[in-house]
Parts: sequence; C-alpha cells; structure tokens
Amino acid sequence: MPDFKDIIGHEEIISHLQNAIRLNKISHAYIFDGEEGAGKNLLAKTFAQTLQCEKGDVSPCGSCHSCRQAVNGSQPDIIYVRHEKPGSIGVEDIREQVCGDIQIRPYNSPYKIYLIDEAEKMTVQAQNALLKTIEEPPAYGVLLLLTANSAGFLPTILSRCVTLKLHPVKDSLIRAYLMEQLRVPDYQADVCTAFARGNVGKARMLAMSEHFGELKDHALHLVRHMNDMELWEITEAIRKVAEYRADINDYLDLLALWYRDVLLFKATRQVDGLIFSDEINYISLQAVKTSYEGLERIIEALEKAKTRLKANVDFELAMELLLLTIKEN
Ligand SMILES: [Zn+2]
Repeated sequence: MPDFKDIIGHEEIISHLQNAIRLNKISHAYIFDGEEGAGKNLLAKTFAQTLQCEKGDVSPCGSCHSCRQAVNGSQPDIIYVRHEKPGSIGVEDIREQVCGDIQIRPYNSPYKIYLIDEAEKMTVQAQNALLKTIEEPPAYGVLLLLTANSAGFLPTILSRCVTLKLHPVKDSLIRAYLMEQLRVPDYQADVCTAFARGNVGKARMLAMSEHFGELKDHALHLVRHMNDMELWEITEAIRKVAEYRADINDYLDLLALWYRDVLLFKATRQVDGLIFSDEINYISLQAVKTSYEGLERIIEALEKAKTRLKANVDFELAMELLLLTIKEN
C-alpha cells in the first residue's frame, strides 16, 4: 500500500506535494520527470490517492473506501489514460479520455485526476489538445504527466505545468532498502546499489533478477582466471560472453567495477568500501600482480570497448582487443 513515508528518497518532491496539500494550493498540472524505475509512478499514484483520501490528510489513510479503491486501481476519479498505438499517444486518445471526460464532474471525490504515463509520446496535436485543458481546467481537474524526457514537451506545456524532477537516490538509502526490506545479503546489495546509480527500481530489479546474478558470476569467473588463461581459453571466453551480448554494457560495467575495486584496494589496503568485498582474496592477488598503470589501462580499455560496440565495431574483435589488453596488464 503506497504511502509517502515508504518511498525511498525524493524527499524534496514529497515535501513539495505535501505542502501543496496542506496549503490547499494544488496545481492543475504536474510533470514527474525521471528515468524508468526512478519512482515517478509511485510518487504520482501516492499523490493521487492522498488527494482523494476521505480523511483529507497530507498522507493517504490507506483504509477509507477511496484509498482501497485507489490501491486496486478502481477509484473512478483517478483515471489512467491509455493509448492504442504502442509508440505514440494520439490526439484522439487525449480528446476522448481527457478533454471530453474532464467536463463531467467527479463521481464522489474532491478531484478528478488524470495520469498520463509515457507522456512524452504525445504527438504535437495531442499536446495541443491537452494544452487547452491545462489552460482552462475545471476547478477539480488535476493532470499528472509522467515522463522520462520532459524535453519532448512543447514549451507551452512546460510553462503551464509544475515540473518535479526526480534525482538519483542516495546509495546508502538504496542499500538499506535492499537489505532490510528485500533481505538481500550485503555483498549483493553493494553490487546492485553500485549498478543502479540512484535508481531504486533498477536496484530492486537487479536484486531480484536471476539473470543479473548469472551475468555477475560469469564476469567474476572471467576476471578471477584471466591471468592464467591460454589464448584458446580467451577465444572460448569471448564466445561465451557473446551469449550476454544484449547485456554487454552491464557485463563490461561489472568488469570495470571489479578492476576499480582492485585499484582501490591497491591504494588503500582497505576492504571497507569495496563493492565486491566478498572477492577480497582474488582482489588482493590481482592488486599485487597488476601495476597502477596496468589497472588504469584496463579500465580505459573497458570504456573503449563500450565505445567501439556502440559504434558497431565487430563484437568479437572488440572483445578480443579488450581481453588481450586485460591479459597483458
Ligand atoms: Zn483514505
């Protein structure tokens, strides 16, 4: 059941929304701008539920009729705008589901709230249709536009909405969430947190994903044994890495995190602060074997491999160059 106090991070946005409720200064249109998994759906739904809650407080009570309906997605005055075509939200979608509908008073709630997910997919005509509603909304109308890219909106839309930009959540909060609420062990929480870069949804997805675990195990196996590998074994490894081609950026990031750990350990001799602290035996061995310059060359080579793959350089060639650089250093 959503509640503002259960949302990880985004304190500024939450306090902005709760202040607006407290002062009874709700805007008619908000933009929640954040990447996928950042939490904009959760924030918008919790805000909508709070606005409609029968207790009228700054957080949803969770138990009134309206709150229960909101949780089930059946609150008649919280409307999720759907679109027929997957790639775009057309003018007809907006006219039928928003512009026309908003003229009808709410059933039984103080507001009539429209949630438009992936709102950047609105065509220019759809945005212009919506603009008329934003300019002259009925007193009870609230529009919540969710987007991963508010730069896709017309300036006229942007100037009439309150834009709430979601920022990355602190690593310490994400780590605590994974460990305390999802019961993820600490070494796994470290990797998922480092990887998620402030995105709680991504951290949760990684922690729950068997596939990510498999990717990580493969990458770690490779770095542990790289120094002892013969050329034919490297060729074999490349063939295996090719199976993870769709996730190659994650794969290369895992390798880079590992070598950063080696570099950090070489410089500080501290286990605290390492992302792969459970790999300390291998990390300390590698720190002895490889010079500072060598580690920097490896980390650069990992970046270069990503650039090459983005530029569509042959996959096997890019990986071969990378693994040879790792082995030489
Ligand atoms: Zn309630």
